[in-house]
Amino acid sequence: MIPAIYTEKTQCRDCYKCVRHCPVKAIRVEESSATVDHDLCIFCGRCVDVCPAGAKKVRNDIPRAKQLLSIREKVYVSLAPSYAAVFTDGEQVLIDKLKSLGFTGVSETAIGAEIVSLEQKRQLHNGSGACISSACPSVRLLAQRYFPDAAKKISGITSPMIAHGRYLRRLYGEDIGVVFIGPCIAKKTEADQYPDTVDVALTFKEAAAWIGECDGTIKADRISAEKTGFVPFKAGKASLYPVDGGMIRSMGNSAPENYRYFHQSGTAQLMDTLRHFSEIDEENYFLELMTCEGGCINGPVSHTDEASITRRARLFDTWEQRESCSSLDFLPADLIDSCWNIPVTPGGAYTHEEIEDALNALGKISREDRKNCGGCGYPTCEEFARAFLDGKAEKEMCVTEMRKIAQNKVTALLHTIPMGVVIADEKMHIVECNRNFLDLFAQIPFEPDLEVLKRVEGKSLSSFLPKTDAFRTLLERSETMEKIIQIDGKVMRGNFFQIQKGRLVGAVFQDITAPAVKREMVVKKAEEVIRKNLESVQQIAGLLGENAAETEIILNSLIDSFEPGEFRRS
Ligand code: SF4
Ligand code: SF4
Repeated sequence: MIPAIYTEKTQCRDCYKCVRHCPVKAIRVEESSATVDHDLCIFCGRCVDVCPAGAKKVRNDIPRAKQLLSIREKVYVSLAPSYAAVFTDGEQVLIDKLKSLGFTGVSETAIGAEIVSLEQKRQLHNGSGACISSACPSVRLLAQRYFPDAAKKISGITSPMIAHGRYLRRLYGEDIGVVFIGPCIAKKTEADQYPDTVDVALTFKEAAAWIGECDGTIKADRISAEKTGFVPFKAGKASLYPVDGGMIRSMGNSAPENYRYFHQSGTAQLMDTLRHFSEIDEENYFLELMTCEGGCINGPVSHTDEASITRRARLFDTWEQRESCSSLDFLPADLIDSCWNIPVTPGGAYTHEEIEDALNALGKISREDRKNCGGCGYPTCEEFARAFLDGKAEKEMCVTEMRKIAQNKVTALLHTIPMGVVIADEKMHIVECNRNFLDLFAQIPFEPDLEVLKRVEGKSLSSFLPKTDAFRTLLERSETMEKIIQIDGKVMRGNFFQIQKGRLVGAVFQDITAPAVKREMVVKKAEEVIRKNLESVQQIAGLLGENAAETEIILNSLIDSFEPGEFRRS
């Protein structure tokens, strides 16, 4: 199965925006294509959001869900509680539409959240020490991959989605199908780890698209006939889980008082907390962490562009009507134990010398070379060097280095070409020129050095050339133009060209009265005459050949038109 997030390589435009935005730099750039490294990824979905070319994709699981419906007798939806923030038609309409797709019933993942809250409270009451919530799979991936010390404090309780999947199977039979629907990409990865519990995890976007696909065929009578609501019952106060702080709030007054409760969301804040985790020297605290800023209501595949505050308000409206849930009376250990083992991300431990060597190899030799401009997607040149050593980054990603190399090439070309070259901007001011240009047009009585060339930059072209009309014309026309210019007894051939529309034009000048050029032109002319003569000879030969062939064809057809025997072909 392909991973939950993947790259359509042919669509990658090589802009490194995903590298810049990925909080854990889980993007590998190879042969100018930026692909997700799934051993490093926390499936936060940021790269999918920011990729301007749409090259980062979320796996489409609708076909798998449809197949499940075709092979299982009963398939239940586990609907994430953030549905209330995102789907605006009301819960019964959503339930009806989902059932019309073929699902047996719709149950709330918030029931799984109730189970998690109950167990979490029980463990805190038993004095389990400092603890980090485990509800967000992306947090689990982040901590276990990058902050192994902090990860030891992650609760051993499974996520609401898995607890709910197990609960539904316990209730309706192990042979049912379970399809989770929510705003989260990381849940797809989590579901992949528990194929016997949650068969498929769809996003809200996928569910909305599927409903949209079938809307016309949903029978109104079927919708109105089956108003069964959520099964087996409506979830309670844990339906606040999708906002940050919602888990703590849903644990209510019965949460142990000797604990301090904190909640945080957003990868930047989380990474800071996990990095400095050891500095928190309190024994009894509970940290509720969520990767998406503000919580799952702002999940990456939410199927809405509404303001976060609007979603939040809508979720609270629903939550306020919910009663405390008292229907959960059995919590066997296998319902709540997490068994998701995520290996620590290896790599990154390099010596100072190794990093220095990498920086040198990347052309970052002096302090000035190490600009930390972030153009490569990494915050510092050193981070870039580490990624280079990890095999995740390529030399060509450094924009400043590439620009420097390109500039050096242009300068070398400009100063070795045996002709006068000038580049001008839209105001007809010189941007760059070479020594030969000054030789031709400025008659400086000495060999102009780089200092002189620098001083010419910004000067008006008309100080050197009698006319600039060809430059002006080519500012707007992307073509080339050749002109003969006479100046101070010299005859020059000028080739004009556009470099950037409306911004930059250039020209190459050659003194065609110079002896070397004259000789070259004579040779060229002679070659041209020979070539033309040869062409004529070939044409004549061709015509003669064609005529001979035609004559033969005509004679043969004449012979064939007579009866056999009248003529004997020799
Ligand atoms: S999903 Fe998140 S962690 Fe994974 S590559 Fe994209 S931005 Fe990075
Ligand atoms: S905060 Fe919620 S939506 Fe976002 S990654 Fe975590 S579980 Fe998924």
